[in-house]
Parts: sequence; C-alpha cells; structure tokens
Amino acid sequence: MSEILSVRDLCMSFYTSAGEVKAVDDVSFSVNSGEVLGIVGESGSGKSACMLSIMGLAGVAGRIKSGKIIFRGQEVNNHNIETLRGKNISMIFKDPMTSLGITPAEKRINQYPYEFSGGQRQRIMTAMAIICNPDLLIADEPTTALDVTVQAQILALMKDLRKSLGMSMILISHDLGVIAGEADKVIIMYGGRILERGTRHEIFYQAAHPYTKGLLRSVPNIESPRERLIPIEGSPPDLLNPPKGCPFVKRCPEAMKICLTRRPEECSITQTHKYSCWLEAKNNA
Ligand code: SF4
Repeated sequence: MSEILSVRDLCMSFYTSAGEVKAVDDVSFSVNSGEVLGIVGESGSGKSACMLSIMGLAGVAGRIKSGKIIFRGQEVNNHNIETLRGKNISMIFKDPMTSLGITPAEKRINQYPYEFSGGQRQRIMTAMAIICNPDLLIADEPTTALDVTVQAQILALMKDLRKSLGMSMILISHDLGVIAGEADKVIIMYGGRILERGTRHEIFYQAAHPYTKGLLRSVPNIESPRERLIPIEGSPPDLLNPPKGCPFVKRCPEAMKICLTRRPEECSITQTHKYSCWLEAKNNA
C-alpha cells in the first residue's frame, strides 16, 4: 500500500489569553491508501487539534510550531491547502448541530440544523465531506450523540462509500467499540502525545501502555458482562502547564520516579506496535 499522508514531528499550540496551550506535541503517523487509521483519546488529547492542523483550519489562535504534513509526497502549507481541501482531503466535523451549513435545497432552505434528526444531520455532513470524492476523509467523532441504530447506519454508509470510492480514512473517536469495528491500525493519544500505536489486533489484544490498558478496562466486554468496569481515576493534564515527564504520570498506577521528570521515548514491540513508557526500559534492565 502506498503512503498517502505522513505527519512528522508535528507540534501545534493554541495561543489563548491564559497562555500557550500545547495541544499537539511531537506527533508522527502515516496513513496508507485505502487504510483506516483510528485515533482514540479523551477530550483534550490533541486528536481534533491535529486534524485541524492537517486541514489548515486551526484558526487565528492555532499555530503549527514545527513538523511537516506531507500529502502524496507534497508538503502541505498555507499556499496549497486550499487546493487540497475538499478535493483531496476532506473532513466530517464533530457536532453537526453547530458545524452544519445547510445547502440551499428548496425544501430545506428555511430549516435549521436542530430541525433535522441526528442521523439526517450526520448524513448531510458526510455527503458534504465526500461530494468531491476526496482521497482522504477525516471523520471527527462522526457518530457521537447518535443512538446505536443510527450510529450503525452511519458507519455502514461510510464503509460502503469508502469501498466504492477507494478512500483512505482517519476515524477519530473516544468510542473504542467504533474503532474496533472499523480501523486497520490505531493510535492512542493523551495530553497531546501518542502513547501507543499498533494494528487493531495489537491494541485491543496486546495493549502495552498503562493508559491503553486502563481504557480497555473501562469499557464493557460482551464476553464477560459481569466483570466490574474500572474507571481511570483523575483527569487529563493541563496543557497550559504540561507535565515535564510522562503526560500520564498523575493517573498511572505504575508510575515511577523517572516518569515525573523524563519523557519516555517510543520503543518498539513489533514493527507495527510501539509505545512510550519507562516500563519497557525497566523490564529490559
Ligand atoms: Fe506510567 Fe511511567 Fe509508563 Fe508513564 S512512563 S505510563 S507514568 S509507568
């Protein structure tokens, strides 16, 4: 499979009245043609900020500080993003209630997004995103706030479209079930960084990072419905003052002294499965 998108060492911040929010911190990944990359993370993990950077839609407060975004071998920049956007790279934005622009169809001209059902809104947003037959579709939480029946319909619709149009896709979700059903490979983001990456099987059956393990323990398992769900205590880091060491240190049950002061490098378990944690160094000591 040929590489269609490559994001390399991306650092992106929002400049607010409270200070610099380091939303994306040294993030690298790639998407191959026809592939679905799933990105999982809590709110504020940097998933959407990363995608808005790719689309050149980070707004006046957002700035890419360093790194490269390469699409089909060409570096994406302020000059060419407008020609790529829509035609080559398109996005289904999260929350169609606020991001849906109603096209001037005669029947709908006087209606507002709230006058459509959640499923209708999401179908319209999907149609708007794929109308130019893009090579890469970024779907940011496309099924959030939909009931499970409509969610299944939207996912089936996107799968059909992807196959018939031969699109690659980046699927962002905090719903591990959605990612497990759709993605070929998965990235786990937290505090603006990638903590673990791997094939779908590696992430769901051989998770190595304490955060990924925590996420998996906190969702119901249909094979053991009586098992107690264990939430991850605490809250994500403040990206105005990101932790010096591992971003997960304050919530990690396995944290060590070194985790407070030094960031773990990404280490490889297999060619495709990698994670950033000092436990790997400890295990190999
Ligand atoms: Fe936990 Fe330390 Fe690993 Fe971070 S680096 S996940 S704090 S053990």
